[in-house]
Amino acid sequence: MYQRSEDLTAFLDRLPKTETHLHIEGALPYQLLQKMDPEKFKEVPYFWATDYRYPTFENFEGTLIEHAIQWFTSPENYYEAAKIVFEGLKDQNVRYIETSFHIGMVEFIDIKGKEILHAIQSAAPKGIELRVFAGMLRNHYTPFMKPIIDDLVNWDGLAGIDLHGVEVWDLEDWSEGIWKVCQEAGKETKAHAGEFGGAENVREVIERLKVRRVQHGVRSVEDESVLQLLLDEGVTLDVCPISNLKLQVVPSMKEHPIRQLFDRGINCTISTDDPFSFGNTVTDEYSALANELNFTKRELAEIARNGFKIAQLEKGKRQQIFDEIDDVIAKFE
Ligand SMILES: [Zn+2]
Repeated sequence: MYQRSEDLTAFLDRLPKTETHLHIEGALPYQLLQKMDPEKFKEVPYFWATDYRYPTFENFEGTLIEHAIQWFTSPENYYEAAKIVFEGLKDQNVRYIETSFHIGMVEFIDIKGKEILHAIQSAAPKGIELRVFAGMLRNHYTPFMKPIIDDLVNWDGLAGIDLHGVEVWDLEDWSEGIWKVCQEAGKETKAHAGEFGGAENVREVIERLKVRRVQHGVRSVEDESVLQLLLDEGVTLDVCPISNLKLQVVPSMKEHPIRQLFDRGINCTISTDDPFSFGNTVTDEYSALANELNFTKRELAEIARNGFKIAQLEKGKRQQIFDEIDDVIAKFE
């Protein structure tokens, strides 16, 4: 499925791309586990097989946590992992990255959140624009986490906040206030919705949290009025097609709603979500769209352009990349 012709490979290599939906803990490089315990981790993980499907979200989450906690134990280890992840993205001609770290790790492994932020930031290679987000769960506003979450707005260098998955829990009132304060301070705000939850969850985060960046959001296609809302409010969906396939959010790549969302004019980007869990790369995501959903080179370039449209970049830099994308299309069409 992730195979690509020589021509498509050459095109994708030249195309400047973004990665705007990436959990740093879910991107743990497998080679680091192998380095830690060569015997235990000598096999390629079974869940990387292209036909592997996670039976449930809980199973996916459990498998990821079981591995991630073995590595993410210190700021130094965050740095080492992030460095490999970002270099791998740079090799695929990704120029702009948004990644989130899980704020719950502060409680879990007892390290300061700002140290995690700094470790990830300092791992950015030259030529990559990196923005780091703090992600939290819908039920994260506990007595321990409350002061940390309240203070996020004051963290210099933190690009924004993200509401992470697990949509079965209700959206709690505290999140409205936190999202508002961060927006007023000029931070970007995102929310995961419309993955395991329906279109009404997408509407909810747009209306209550006022986000214009929805992570996944693919189930918006189930409600025409939500599609119209996405257009009216200029919402971008940071879609992860291979993640959706392996988590059985969609029955097959051919039936993935990104084709419908894209054709409707909704601003969609594509990203890998948790490459440790799915064994995917950004280039694989583009290849899946080309192979299974008949995206033309011009359409793939449009997807890449969408990522730079919403990127926190200065105008001149953005225009320079748009020009470069135009040149790539002209050369390959
Ligand atoms: Zn995600």
